[in-house]
Amino acid sequence: MLIGDHAVGGEELFVIAGPCAIESAEQLTRVGQTVRAAGAQALRGGAFKPRTSPYAFQGLAGEGLALLREYKQRTGHLVVTEVMDAAQLDAVADVADVLQIGARNMHNSYLLAAVGEARRPVLLKRSFGATASELLHAAEYILARGNEAVLLCERGIRSYETCTRFTLDVGAIAWLKQQTHLPVLVDPSHAAGASALVTPLALAGVAAGADGLLIEVHHDPSRALSDADQALTPEAFASLIERLRPLAAALGRRLPAVTARGGRA
Ligand code: PEP
Ligand code: MN
Repeated sequence: MLIGDHAVGGEELFVIAGPCAIESAEQLTRVGQTVRAAGAQALRGGAFKPRTSPYAFQGLAGEGLALLREYKQRTGHLVVTEVMDAAQLDAVADVADVLQIGARNMHNSYLLAAVGEARRPVLLKRSFGATASELLHAAEYILARGNEAVLLCERGIRSYETCTRFTLDVGAIAWLKQQTHLPVLVDPSHAAGASALVTPLALAGVAAGADGLLIEVHHDPSRALSDADQALTPEAFASLIERLRPLAAALGRRLPAVTARGGRA
């Protein structure tokens, strides 16, 4: 599957990194430049945020999309952002290179059908309360409408364990790789819920067969307006990528080569 000029699901891992939520132009520039330099082929950032509490920061909405558009036009970096409602779809699809469907919307079959009509790849996150098989059924809603560019994402499920925010289901990554031709990404950030656990879970996800990663990175994690505890600094993200490199090689995969300026080598 081609996203921009990146073949996703092949030898090279597809790395998406960036803040949980878009907060400012400066934030996108600082995070975008540094994650790109470390090898991220795409920048992530939510303008429309699904938050547990209605009193938590809900995202910059249209203003966030405008910031993302400006970042994309200025840098040419691919951008990934979430669509929460079919009413937002045209506006989001006009900016996003990849449409993210969040865990809380995996069961929203009307939204799935709507993105099935969009001419954009879709990153479909597994609900924390869904089986891997239900994730495949959700993907089918998109595929059935003619959009074949679906990337699946394991981001942790609810279990009785509380040592991590969610329980990363590496078994599901391995199983999905056997069940479908669709690329499977791992999101260790939401599973971990704590920055110190993100790297080991990223390694586990790639070892289980993931075709790429979704990682939350903030230039100043303690000030992040959402998911601050799990955000990596740009430096920590760069060392995660370096830790992954020998593992990827052992698995017959590779990470993108990078230049100091942040372009591709
Ligand atoms: C996110 O990617 O920031 C997010 C809200 O993830 P999830 O839908 O997996 O909770
Ligand atoms: Mn988040």
